[in-house]
Amino acid sequence: MRTIIDVHAHLGKVIHGYPPLTVEKLLRFMDTHDIEWSVVLPLVHPEEEDYYYTTEQALEDCARHPDRLIPFANVDPRRSSNDGKYDFYPVLKEYADLGCKGCGEFLCNLPTNDPRMKGIYRACGRLGFPVVFDFRWRRMTGVLDPVGMPWLEECLKEFPETIFVGHGPSWWAEISADVTDDQKAGYPTGPVVPGGSIDRLLAQYPNLHADLSAGSGLNAFRRDLAYAREFVVRHSRKLMFGTDRFVREEDPEMIGVLRAMALPADVARAVFRGNAASLLKPDRPEGDQP
Ligand SMILES: [Zn+2]
Repeated sequence: MRTIIDVHAHLGKVIHGYPPLTVEKLLRFMDTHDIEWSVVLPLVHPEEEDYYYTTEQALEDCARHPDRLIPFANVDPRRSSNDGKYDFYPVLKEYADLGCKGCGEFLCNLPTNDPRMKGIYRACGRLGFPVVFDFRWRRMTGVLDPVGMPWLEECLKEFPETIFVGHGPSWWAEISADVTDDQKAGYPTGPVVPGGSIDRLLAQYPNLHADLSAGSGLNAFRRDLAYAREFVVRHSRKLMFGTDRFVREEDPEMIGVLRAMALPADVARAVFRGNAASLLKPDRPEGDQP
């Protein structure tokens, strides 16, 4: 039996000049790396890529392999009235009824506490949808939060029913307490200074989780592997493995990084599978819940 759940995967023709990420290629990649389930995240904000990959496409692709692929919904927070008053619930409820298990990832160049983003959190809280963020800084894309993540903290307090899932360069730069405004825009190196904002927020707020995907997660761990191991053990019920495999079709180096930590078995199982399984509850035809 395959053991891993990848909470951050992509499909579709998303960047001009690169071949599409096909379902067949994703399934081969999953088989090679012991991944049983992948969460497919639509990309629907104009800041992101050259082409959209919509919720409807994700539903269609995932329906071909309901035992391996889990669709998320995604919407543009600026949709319709674009004034913070639009009710996202009816559309997201429709996606939930069609099989979506969460919402994201968000890359829409808005502050975390923008009223339009809050409309998303309000609807997702009612639906039990985790919300996946790609936090960036000074890039005209991503969700924006200054040093210390104060806008995220405001929303964690205001929407205790909503599960927030952190990811992206300006999220992971916050692993270190000495993060600067400049570093938030990139991939800082060097030893981590304990007490970073995400360490505190993950400990303090039950509704905050994180995925370990992409070069940003890898960089945050590799810059200080000893601290990373402590971080994983401390937040073992909050962290979820993910790849964010994209058009360069990268290998999932995080698997080797986590294995090399020689984590306690229950911690490894939670991060590779258990936390995602309890959050997403993927449907298994045999009724054998992972
Ligand atoms: Zn992604």
